[in-house]
Amino acid sequence: TLADAADPANWLAQLGASLSADERILLTRAFDAARELYAGKTLPHTGEDVFSHAVGAAAIVADLNLLPDAIAATLLFAVPEYRSDWQEWLPKAFNRTVLTLVEGGNRVQRLTELARIDRLATPDDRAKQAETMRKMLLAMVADIRVVLIELAWRTQTMHYLAQVPDERVRRQIAQETLDLFAPLANRLGVWQIKWELEDLGFRHIEPDNYKKIAKLLDERRLERIDYIERVLDTLRGELKKAGIKGEVAGRPKHIYSIWKKMKKKKLDFSELYDIRAVRILVERLPDCYTVLGLIHSMWQPIPGEFDDYISNPKANDYRSLHTAVIGPEDRGVEVQIRTFEMHEHAEFGVAAHWRYKEGGQGDAQYEEKISWLRQLLDWREEMSGSDKEDLADAFKTELFSD
Ligand code: GDP
Repeated sequence: TLADAADPANWLAQLGASLSADERILLTRAFDAARELYAGKTLPHTGEDVFSHAVGAAAIVADLNLLPDAIAATLLFAVPEYRSDWQEWLPKAFNRTVLTLVEGGNRVQRLTELARIDRLATPDDRAKQAETMRKMLLAMVADIRVVLIELAWRTQTMHYLAQVPDERVRRQIAQETLDLFAPLANRLGVWQIKWELEDLGFRHIEPDNYKKIAKLLDERRLERIDYIERVLDTLRGELKKAGIKGEVAGRPKHIYSIWKKMKKKKLDFSELYDIRAVRILVERLPDCYTVLGLIHSMWQPIPGEFDDYISNPKANDYRSLHTAVIGPEDRGVEVQIRTFEMHEHAEFGVAAHWRYKEGGQGDAQYEEKISWLRQLLDWREEMSGSDKEDLADAFKTELFSD
């Protein structure tokens, strides 16, 4: 809003991050500099005000709980467009991390401008082009936070998209989001961003189907919430009886994933059973299996719906147990079971790495780094020979430099 835009103190208060005095100074300076530099400027494709865009994207980065350097860099992400001396200015006015992040963003920006996905190509070819782009993008940044900022920047574009008058522009941006950015968010395991990009992309590519599903979900909402509450009560009781500490909650379903499932299973709107889903978080890994046993003895499992992503994690390291059962009143209920730690990872993916850096120390942090290195090396496996050496160096430096 305009009031926030005028007042960095308001903005800082809304970020909800706990900040040291130095960090407050850094962010206030970034905010003021961005406001001054972007005044009256709009973004090329959408026409969105650059400063509001940067503030919106910074809020998304703050929600991922990335450190203040990344929030500052998000505000300053467009600086190369408006200051030719940015490479000297950023480290002087802010710090080297901010420069590195903005520099990475600038390189990615140039890549995506040059190598646009050909909208007219077949879906298969588009998928291949997007795959190549994703790899190039991941290969060219030494600090994955650059990609996270890029994703936040795109998410903000999607928040604004409904206000873009030209339908062709809206569709083009939405398509690129579904082809490139949502799969990228998925690869990095940043679920929060992935589903939002998908739903907003879908909304502009297939507005009618989007509205139909949204309406159907809305119609039975209260009934569904009521039902879920009863299931949750039962589950809480059972956990308590078994002496397992945990949390249970209903789980919102996302529109695009419902659409994909309808297409995959060739379901019609009339067959769109209302979707009821719960999630159980427990403290220890063995508890996941105990809870699974409890649920399957209470309610009949639906055949073919069980997946053990704990012993078989997804490529993005997502871990959880999935099952579906015939719950009370003969209604289907989808169930996810995982530990709190797995959940943190499920929601934030690679971003969790930088969240941990803040609080945790010592061994836990080291473990974290090792497991990320392993994952980054997996990406490297997917790439061609010559890229590999450079990339290994880049990642090693980044991961073990502090
Ligand atoms: P299935 O149960 O094995 O068919 O798994 P799906 O791929 O259909 O996913 C079902 C649900 O699991 C999704 O709606 C998500 O809630 C969750 N899920 C699946 N993959 C991921 C992932 O990579 N990250 C997170 N956070 N959730 C996931």
